[in-house]
Amino acid sequence: METYSEVLDAKGYIDEAIDPRLDLVAEIQRLKKEKNAVILAHYYQEAEIQDIADYIGDSLGLSQEAAKTQADVIVFAGVHFMAETAKILSPQKKVLLPDLKAGCSLSDSCPPHLFAKFKELYPDHLVITYVNCTAELKALSDIVCTSSNAVQIVESLPADQKIIFGPDKNLGAYVKRKTGRDLVLWNGACMVHEIFSQEKIDRIRREYPEAKFIAHPECEEHILKAADFIASTTGLLNYTQRESANTFIVATESGIIHQMQKASPHKTFIPAPPNNACACNDCPHMKLNTLEKLYNCMKFELPEVTLPADVIIRAQRPIERMLEISAKLGL
Ligand code: SF4
Repeated sequence: METYSEVLDAKGYIDEAIDPRLDLVAEIQRLKKEKNAVILAHYYQEAEIQDIADYIGDSLGLSQEAAKTQADVIVFAGVHFMAETAKILSPQKKVLLPDLKAGCSLSDSCPPHLFAKFKELYPDHLVITYVNCTAELKALSDIVCTSSNAVQIVESLPADQKIIFGPDKNLGAYVKRKTGRDLVLWNGACMVHEIFSQEKIDRIRREYPEAKFIAHPECEEHILKAADFIASTTGLLNYTQRESANTFIVATESGIIHQMQKASPHKTFIPAPPNNACACNDCPHMKLNTLEKLYNCMKFELPEVTLPADVIIRAQRPIERMLEISAKLGL
């Protein structure tokens, strides 16, 4: 018989059969109370997972919520680097991820050992990394940023400060354009934000000329140039609530549309299509999490995300620096 660790090595999640008569939502709520757990769900999760979560948000906001709660167990319905960030900010808590194989193409595009060599080429540069990266990469950084504060963090540094920005080249290029600073960029990208089809978006815009086209800064330059509004996932959600337009074409992962639609039920949200046969753009890593995996993960308290103590300590500092700068700037 396979042990749990063998199952986790092979599959990445506990695949114990679940009685189909079980009310999974009620059972998850029961386990939450029993284990004093909190469920955090990223905006890109399936709607049924978002609906059962205690907090829904972007990766850093969720981890900050987790650090504030009195829960003993954090169940992170998101991808691996997000659960790591929760662990960095709450090292004393048990952090669970429903599927250990829920990774991230952007995070994978920047292996820490290669980044360490890259860094050696620029010894007088400060390293700023986007929060969508591994704990080890954060540990190699001076300051972490999010898509909502990257521009302000770069602007807060002296004009002659040389900077490496990683791992997302599209966000980095966007920050370069906004700040006029000459950043050295790591050549990484998110597979979801790199495949929007300009041609299909233009077609939708012709059909809905009154629609606002909104985009995440992880998108490529030509998509961002065409956008009416560019912001982080939370920033896009807020924009759709305050803006008087009734129709929005949304160029980011389509999971956010669930919250947009809940907040503004009378408005229309159209996912910007990718350049393949799909109608909307789903992150295959995010969508590995299911309600069944979430239930088993809470029942068995597996898989757990752990980190070496020295990585936690080294990764905390650049996150704290981001929080200090953000607080100083009133962000
Ligand atoms: S949407 Fe992109 S950045 Fe986010 S988890 Fe998926 S691959 Fe990574």
